[in-house]
Amino acid sequence: MSNNPNNRLLCPNCGSRQVGEVGPQRHYCRSCYVEFDSGGEDNPQVYLIDDEGNLFSFEDSVQEAKDDH
Ligand SMILES: [Zn+2]
Repeated sequence: MSNNPNNRLLCPNCGSRQVGEVGPQRHYCRSCYVEFDSGGEDNPQVYLIDDEGNLFSFEDSVQEAKDDH
């Protein structure tokens, strides 16, 4: 919609503008080190990156945390 470079995507996890593009509709936040899809603006899928560089779903990690309680 807009090509304004000042209107870049915000990170859905931390709200930072330090977001780079790593693929089609795939972005990387340099502030909190997550990747996320921009395909669904209402519910962007966030991926965390573990120490080995593997991606895993943010929702999965939240689910596991709840299960611990
Ligand atoms: Zn972030």
